[in-house]
Amino acid sequence: MNSKLSNRVNEMATSATLAMAAKARELREEGKDIIGLSLGEPDFTIPEFVKDAAIQAVKDDYHSYTPVDGYGDLKQAIITKFKRDNNISYEPSQIVVSTGAKQSLANLAMVLLNKGDEVLLPAPYWVSYSDISKLAGGVPKEIKTSIDNDFKVTARELEAAITPKTKMIIYSSPCNPSGSVYSRDELRALADVLVKYPNIIVVSDEIYEHINFVGKHASIAEFDDMYNQTVVVNGVSKAYSMTGWRVGYIGGPEWIARACNKMQGQITSGTNCIAQRATITALKSPPSKIQFMVDAFKERRSLILDLLSEIPGIKTNEPEGAFYVFPDISYYFGKTLRGKHINSASDFSLYLLEEANVATVTGEAFGDPNCIRISYAASDENIKEAMKRIKEVLSA
Ligand code: PMP
Ligand code: GLU
Repeated sequence: MNSKLSNRVNEMATSATLAMAAKARELREEGKDIIGLSLGEPDFTIPEFVKDAAIQAVKDDYHSYTPVDGYGDLKQAIITKFKRDNNISYEPSQIVVSTGAKQSLANLAMVLLNKGDEVLLPAPYWVSYSDISKLAGGVPKEIKTSIDNDFKVTARELEAAITPKTKMIIYSSPCNPSGSVYSRDELRALADVLVKYPNIIVVSDEIYEHINFVGKHASIAEFDDMYNQTVVVNGVSKAYSMTGWRVGYIGGPEWIARACNKMQGQITSGTNCIAQRATITALKSPPSKIQFMVDAFKERRSLILDLLSEIPGIKTNEPEGAFYVFPDISYYFGKTLRGKHINSASDFSLYLLEEANVATVTGEAFGDPNCIRISYAASDENIKEAMKRIKEVLSA
């Protein structure tokens, strides 16, 4: 807390995912053999054809400021992608390209929320939804879910959480951190509630769309009666390993896209020109080009679930997408291991870092204090070694 700083930033939590990744990096630089399972970042390299497109863009002398909401031909590629993968139709005026999906989410919060507006967050939720909402004056309202229901919110739980102040709901499917995937029928049940409240905007974060082990991805925006009430958030960080290139985008009602364009025009302007050119190539390629990565994540999921099942007191759901497991570790609360008291998920995650040299993220940051998040976007070797170390330090 620093009184010279704004209340806005003083009241904001540091991103737990980035903080843990920074801590792991620091310890590694000190010479510790840290296995980083904290950051949700594919460990594959960017596909060659995408790299080539970026190199070509540099050679073609792309260098100027870009249109705030993205190059016209990139918006066209996004429109084609939405039609091809989701059967959703948008016009260019409904698309805004941003500096990562994180900025897309921040734009939405800034343009839609007034002070006191409630934002429903089925928990566990991705770490930044809550602080982004608060930054915009919103009040996050968690809806608790249960590991026994695969961490998914039911229509009844959703309806019970709605109040006259509810302005927005944000969720991801496939979900970061639980890996849960909402089926079309489950989304339809939620939609049946939401259509009764047309002032609630649904922010459907589909950034893990392609990392899905159970079949075709479903989007709530596919339903005609939800189309005007939904903004789909997506990007190239996960499917194409382009995390550092910072390209995300939305498709949604034109009035919201216009407002995001206006907001972005005062804050960051258009996204990096080279990354946008490369994104056109990435999005035009058929999803089959990245199937090898999805297959690898699926195998790693089996590996990590098998190894976790050998550790006493750890309960998991079976993730159906993304690249995280979100085990309930509350069995260890109240226990003392190697002289260290474990009273919370943060204590547990810190214990794994200090004793096993394995970086994970506390579930508290995702709205579930009984769990930790483990990213399996790591090599088989690192997954095996990390699970071996965790098993050892928990039997201490
Ligand atoms: N949403 C979810 C669910 C995420 O896991 C992430 C993290 N990459 C983001 C949004 C932000 O992605 P980007 O890298 O495009 O900002
Ligand atoms: N989305 C990733 C994660 O959850 C990257 C970190 C971040 O953007 O916060 O780990």
